[in-house]
Amino acid sequence: METPPFDFAVAAYPLAPATLYNVGGPARLALLPRNEDECRAAYAWMLRQPERKLILGGGSNVLIADEGFPGVVLFTTGLKRLDDLGDHRYSIGSGHDLDFVVREIMLANNYDGVGALTGIPGSVGGAIYMNAGTVNGSTCQFMESVDILGPEGLAVIPMTPERYTYRGQNFCAPGDVILGGLFRFTVSDQDQRAIYDHYIARRLEKQPRGYCCGSVFKNPPGDHAGRLIEACGLKGARRGGAVISPMHANFIMNENNAGFDDIVGLIQLARSRVREQFGVELEPEVRIIR
Ligand SMILES: Cc1cc2nc3c(=O)[nH]c(=O)nc-3n(C[C@H](O)[C@H](O)[C@H](O)COP(=O)(O)OP(=O)(O)OC[C@H]3O[C@@H](n4cnc5c(N)ncnc54)[C@H](O)[C@@H]3O)c2cc1C
Repeated sequence: METPPFDFAVAAYPLAPATLYNVGGPARLALLPRNEDECRAAYAWMLRQPERKLILGGGSNVLIADEGFPGVVLFTTGLKRLDDLGDHRYSIGSGHDLDFVVREIMLANNYDGVGALTGIPGSVGGAIYMNAGTVNGSTCQFMESVDILGPEGLAVIPMTPERYTYRGQNFCAPGDVILGGLFRFTVSDQDQRAIYDHYIARRLEKQPRGYCCGSVFKNPPGDHAGRLIEACGLKGARRGGAVISPMHANFIMNENNAGFDDIVGLIQLARSRVREQFGVELEPEVRIIR
């Protein structure tokens, strides 16, 4: 690997504290650009390196190997563009917290959709990549276009419903960088603050707190991964420091210094038991990086 010509490059960068699982060894090199110009330069340099590459936002949906990542990790958390374009349209950089968008833009203007995005940790870029959301809707549906940096340069991709699915999308290949995008909201005739308070209270009541990635598995069509795992009697199952939450079976918690293998072991256990008992193949939502 060439020596990076940036003051925002850090060798042997610890990744566990950069993830909400708090698991994983260091990245061989991390690039932490503070704005889009630096990000473009970092990406161009990164492309020339033969090592593996990873893009990370808030780290709320990744599980990283104990050995760490043997290549370059580009963080997009510094991309904090925010332009109010008028007519309820906003150009928002990937580095903002999704929660910032919910509170400072959607709630502040009583825009529709707070029920879809309330309480989801992580960055705007990660939310776009994952099409994060809830039963009430998802990130991409509030977008007009998305800005993506790829090997061919910058592309502004118009957002259409065919471009996103439940917790996924087809406009950003792994390794491409979502710089941000254009969001368009509509003013609601319902009190969005009450909706926000309702969903925050619901999460506090139904979801465990601690190191985790939220839902480990996507819900299979017409069912809930948590219901299936619970029906297999797996609530409270343990491997090392990891546990399938007794509160919500689709949450696998890093309770006590769990290692990567502890959590992956529980993921495999849940998958195989649900397959045997219900013939359903659970698909992980969490991104496993090894
Ligand atoms: C307590 C808890 C509750 C949660 N609840 C929900 C929920 O209700 N609904 C839901 O959908 N999710 C939920 N999640 C999961 C997670 O918060 C979302 O998937 C979130 O949108 C991920 O954003 P991030 O910035 O943390 O992404 P990261 O974890 O950093 O990355 C996730 C994926 O996106 C890619 N990525 C990230 N940023 C970029 C970028 N700028 N360009 C290109 N690729 C990028 C990464 O390579 C990786 O593959 C929850 C997680 C936790 C811990």
